[in-house]
Amino acid sequence: MNTLKSIAVLFCCSILFSNCSSNTDNVNVYVAKYKEDKLCAISYTYDDGMKEHYTLVFPEMEKRKMKGTFWVNGISINIDNEAVRDTGRASWPELKEMAIKGHEISNHGWSHANLTKISPDEVKVEIGKNDSIILANTGIPSRTFCYPYNARNEEVTALASEGRVGTRTRQFAMSYKLSPEDFDRWVNTLLETKDWGVAMIHGITYGYDAFTSPDILWNHFDQVKALEDSIWVGTFHDVGAYLKEFEELECEITRKGSKITITPHLALDKELFNEPLTMVVEEEGLKKVSAIQGEKELTVRSLPGKAMFEFDPYGGIIEVKVK
Ligand SMILES: [Zn+2]
Repeated sequence: MNTLKSIAVLFCCSILFSNCSSNTDNVNVYVAKYKEDKLCAISYTYDDGMKEHYTLVFPEMEKRKMKGTFWVNGISINIDNEAVRDTGRASWPELKEMAIKGHEISNHGWSHANLTKISPDEVKVEIGKNDSIILANTGIPSRTFCYPYNARNEEVTALASEGRVGTRTRQFAMSYKLSPEDFDRWVNTLLETKDWGVAMIHGITYGYDAFTSPDILWNHFDQVKALEDSIWVGTFHDVGAYLKEFEELECEITRKGSKITITPHLALDKELFNEPLTMVVEEEGLKKVSAIQGEKELTVRSLPGKAMFEFDPYGGIIEVKVK
């Protein structure tokens, strides 16, 4: 890397780094690991399409401008709000309302079958049938997957991952078994380790793993909301896509005086991995930064000694001017 850097500097500073960052003449340019250069991320994920995910969680998250991921089983979702078969489950019109507001309604298998105990053909039906009903009822395709019972093996994982941003392979179970202090410890660890926390939540006031009081969850939301400058709360899809793009992105970065030219290269399926990324420019005494990608003037957020903007990783050359 150092040799490459020296050679590149000699021949007018065109540098290709796998992690898309460069430091020349005390100007730091890098793509943030998380949106808006936050320290860590949390995705709140809710299993099994419970009615209370609509009646309680949805308004509480909306109130705090947070978006969640809701894993549903098509077989148990009520077709409409009139002929309710299962009062414990949400309905498709309710899930559609949540999807329109930016929450993720995604695939937890058609009938909650343990995918490691059925044939590959049956696994395909469990996944495909649920994809179809989610798309038909919400208008938005399911791009992630959550294994029923968190049960998976290599074959199941390969089938469930096909054409998706990701599948849930690790989770932090939030339930009556943990105290508010346990939740605080989890958040503090995420901040320290700069990790992505994926919360798994089932029942709220009833059902599997329900809390002793829902206030425990809402208070936890308040604490995370108070740390919103440091914690990105995003859907499983959005954080998963961002991180994959961050890992795969390569950039050519050239600096000439006050002008920095960044050429991003990302070899991923842009239908799936379509999250804008955050670029950060750091320099002591930095006053003004402007950025253009193609014809588009990018919105720059300025902080002391630091500026950031979102860009399209497939959108071509970015011209940055630093003052
Ligand atoms: Zn489940």
